[in-house]
Amino acid sequence: SSALEQEYRDTFPESANHFQQGRETFPSGVTHDARYLEPFPVYVHSATGSRKQTVEGRELIDYWMGHGSMLLGHSHPAVVAAVQKQAALGTHYGACHESEMRWAEWVINLVPSAERVRFVNSGTEATLMALRVSRIVSGKTKVIKFAGHFHGWHDGLIPGADAPHDTGSYAMPGVTDSVMGDLVIVPPNNLAALEQAIDEHDPACVFVEATGGHFGAVPVRGEFLLGLRELTERKGVILVCDEVITGFRVHPGGAQGYYEFVPDLTTMAKILAGGLPGGALAGRADLMAALEFDNPHGKKMKHPGTFNGNPLSAAAGIAALEIVSTGEPCSHASEVARRLRTEINEVFARKNTPWVAYGEFSAVNILPNYTGPRPESDDFIPHDNQLEMLDINFDRKLTSAFRMALLLNGVDFFGWKAMTSAAHSEEDIQQTVAAFDRMIDRLR
Ligand code: PLP
Repeated sequence: SSALEQEYRDTFPESANHFQQGRETFPSGVTHDARYLEPFPVYVHSATGSRKQTVEGRELIDYWMGHGSMLLGHSHPAVVAAVQKQAALGTHYGACHESEMRWAEWVINLVPSAERVRFVNSGTEATLMALRVSRIVSGKTKVIKFAGHFHGWHDGLIPGADAPHDTGSYAMPGVTDSVMGDLVIVPPNNLAALEQAIDEHDPACVFVEATGGHFGAVPVRGEFLLGLRELTERKGVILVCDEVITGFRVHPGGAQGYYEFVPDLTTMAKILAGGLPGGALAGRADLMAALEFDNPHGKKMKHPGTFNGNPLSAAAGIAALEIVSTGEPCSHASEVARRLRTEINEVFARKNTPWVAYGEFSAVNILPNYTGPRPESDDFIPHDNQLEMLDINFDRKLTSAFRMALLLNGVDFFGWKAMTSAAHSEEDIQQTVAAFDRMIDRLR
């Protein structure tokens, strides 16, 4: 692996230099934990379609796609034109404007549960708002979430986003015991356990990541979502469907549009703002009424936020959602990912490598050191010990070798995951599969 590292250093010398400076500027040299890579991450100069160009001028097939926000590919001409036009008209008025209404109209028309909308700036803010609205409306305190489900990084929901890797506990540095005491973490895909937790804790709401933890790295099934809807409705508990990543990606109406269920509240971000910062909470009018000045709950949720609904994000969002509304970008991205899963698994089988690719929609998850049977269908889940499927992120040495070997072959994986876009082509698929072939040889 030191030969691998040497070749990586020789191939990306400017990135190595930048990282030396980055380390003196940012903790661990990065501005998002997931962008950290040993011995150093690549520095990107520009991006178009499915590809990124590094500072060395090397082209990479991109499977980060802006953390999932670029369903249409980088620098989509319609989004670029909309942003340029709006930038000349002013980037923020601190006032009501027509674009915020047109943006919200797309959300209301596309997302089944969206009767009212409030814009925020990120997915983290959207889930924070959902939590507080649920507490105001229900008058209750506790919140139930599923182990391995990620809902952003604020105190109330970040615990339990990963497997309790080192300590066996979900406690998180900097999150107080009192906040932890309000959070109930239950196993996914188990309605009986959920029902018991609801009876025991009388929660304000239940959060679910719509296709399973970390966009389906730990998948939940459609039947589970429908059962979850039925159970929470029967118990009178608010169901918050976190569609920050699935929204406008798995289907124009999100996972709720695909599986045909209607949660009480829905959180969105990423594709919502067409590649610019933006998020939203949407849902039933009577619940969203917690944000009204005169409301039936008698308590108003205070909601400031400088850049909420700013016209630049609105312009990008409108341009993107109009294209997404045809459904074509979602189905193209899903088909690319399906092909990748199938053909990467063929590589693993041919090379007799105990690795497996799995996932749904536009996700490709890779699990190394897999010992079970080879997948026979596309809805295959590697094994029952679901949190082990997330634990792989903690193996920093293997993660780094895997990513470096792919980067040397022109492919940038999002950790152990790929997210595909409407811009990925047949050529991208072929090159990626060939890169996996060489990566396996390299790591042997
Ligand atoms: N919820 C889900 C399901 C996500 O995937 C993410 C981000 O990846 C978030 C919430 C947090 O969103 P943001 O990174 O915009 O704060």
